[in-house]
Amino acid sequence: NKSELFKEFDKSKVYMVDLESGLHYLLRVELATHKTLEGVELKTFKDFVTVVAKLFPGRQSVVKLLETLLEWLISLPLEKIPYEAILDLANNKMRISGLHLSERVQWLGCQGSSVALRGYPCSLWTLFHVLTVQAASRPDALANTALEDDPLAVLQTMRQYIGTFFGCHECGKHFEEMAQESMSQVKSLDEAVLWLWRKHNQVNARLAGSMSEDPMFPKTQWPTPDLCPTCHEEQDGLHVWNEDMVLAFLKKHYSAANISPKYTS
Ligand code: FAD
Repeated sequence: NKSELFKEFDKSKVYMVDLESGLHYLLRVELATHKTLEGVELKTFKDFVTVVAKLFPGRQSVVKLLETLLEWLISLPLEKIPYEAILDLANNKMRISGLHLSERVQWLGCQGSSVALRGYPCSLWTLFHVLTVQAASRPDALANTALEDDPLAVLQTMRQYIGTFFGCHECGKHFEEMAQESMSQVKSLDEAVLWLWRKHNQVNARLAGSMSEDPMFPKTQWPTPDLCPTCHEEQDGLHVWNEDMVLAFLKKHYSAANISPKYTS
């Protein structure tokens, strides 16, 4: 019985268990389809680990794990890294030192009404919204890294990751088209937060009524009026967004303070 398995959650919250499960899936499943990382793949992975190690507002043990992974990647003089070595680090060395990511994937805010729906892609959007908001609230967090002083650091990392590793190639193609069209117009960390919100809504509009829509979670233009009434306005009888209010809402919704630890063990 599906409804019995369904865990209640609050749509006005972000859940750490979704973010950690997303990282778990990314490191242990998605990356595993690449036997070795080299060239663009290795650079993309290093940038991704840099961004999460510096910006992920997670539990201390998880942040420490990401920092250990980053130090190891930076210190290796190799041009090629076998995926096995990354897995080995994640599984063994880190476990010995008491650092851990959740052992299994479990969704709460990202749970779907069937296993094929929601889950990982939902957690990846959530992760990158959290990261753009963290970057905007802690502008010095990427100091002394290759990504320092770049308002596009998080978005470019997401673009590279989606294009290189994301299992849905069609999604990668669409995202790349959107990025080519307008990402270069982003000039500040706040604009990066809004850019990702706008593009995510474009994807929602395109997917409304499609196969990837979970009937229990219809694709909407987000945030809906119940989540943020002041984000919505009317001009000449047409709906318009109040982007100042949307930015303020995103910065609150995706802030560390709004991430619930429910079900993290
Ligand atoms: P998601 O769209 O995954 O959203 C997760 C949560 O984010 C929502 O529950 C909501 O709380 C919040 N949210 C929703 N909209 C916004 C917004 N505008 N700004 C901030 N937060 C928001 N699937 C396809 O079939 N075709 C594609 O081309 C495709 N492209 C994708 C591109 C990327 C980069 C990613 C990460 C995923 C893509 N997907 C695509 C998957 C798809 O977008 C959804 O992730 C998936 O269908 C699961 O949907 P969901 O209902 O969990 O909500």
